[in-house]
Amino acid sequence: MEKDSGQQVFHPCGYLLLGENQKMDAKAGVELLDGVALEKRFPQFHALSPRTNGVLDPAGGLLRPELAIASHCQVALRYGAQIRAQELVTAWETDADGTTVSTAHGQYRAKHLVIAAGAWNGKLIPQLRGKLSVTRLTLGWFTPETPGSFSVERFPIWEHGAFYGFPVLPDFPGCKLAKHWPGAPRRSRHARLPAQRRR
Ligand SMILES: Cc1cc2nc3c(=O)[nH]c(=O)nc-3n(C[C@H](O)[C@H](O)[C@H](O)COP(=O)(O)OP(=O)(O)OC[C@H]3O[C@@H](n4cnc5c(N)ncnc54)[C@H](O)[C@@H]3O)c2cc1C
Repeated sequence: MEKDSGQQVFHPCGYLLLGENQKMDAKAGVELLDGVALEKRFPQFHALSPRTNGVLDPAGGLLRPELAIASHCQVALRYGAQIRAQELVTAWETDADGTTVSTAHGQYRAKHLVIAAGAWNGKLIPQLRGKLSVTRLTLGWFTPETPGSFSVERFPIWEHGAFYGFPVLPDFPGCKLAKHWPGAPRRSRHARLPAQRRR
């Protein structure tokens, strides 16, 4: 897709898994970093406990999802796809010949249907109703005092316990820092598309 679109969506900056006294498997292709090696290689991490060690997978990296989606759309359009953006799907049904999808703008027939509504899948797929619990996650972008040392050329994506983060990309204001945790469950409302929000 990168070749087709001419866009770089993946930055192979490496993936660093940090932990305290974590068991480090010497799998092919990964580097094992003890506390001393970590300090030398990635001095950007301060005040780690002396027991911290790391596994660095150089094949890991950072994907830019917005650019990837835009590039997919661009390439798909070139190959003849039709994209109906900003159109709320309200219902779908199957019959012996295929599927019918109803939207705010009309109905479509197709042989096959792929549903990829993310957190709203439970609204569109009856079998999932009541089985998905949607929780809100918050993340932050922080501008480091020395952005150059956190650039995608010098800093990996990383994970430490519940926390994870990304390096600075050229057109981004800072590093992403976030926590994997189940936030408070929310009622997932119907998808609100930007055009509807404006009304
Ligand atoms: C705060 C946060 C941080 C994350 N960080 C990372 C990360 O660092 N790395 C990582 O790999 N993943 C991360 N994720 C997870 C990642 O964002 C999701 O796994 C991914 O977006 C799922 O993609 P998707 O296409 O399945 O669903 P989504 O991206 O949710 O897309 C679903 C789309 O369907 C649309 N839709 C829903 N219902 C309808 C309807 N009825 N009609 C029309 N359209 C509808 C929605 O508007 C939406 O555009 C993060 C998620 C969150 C919330």
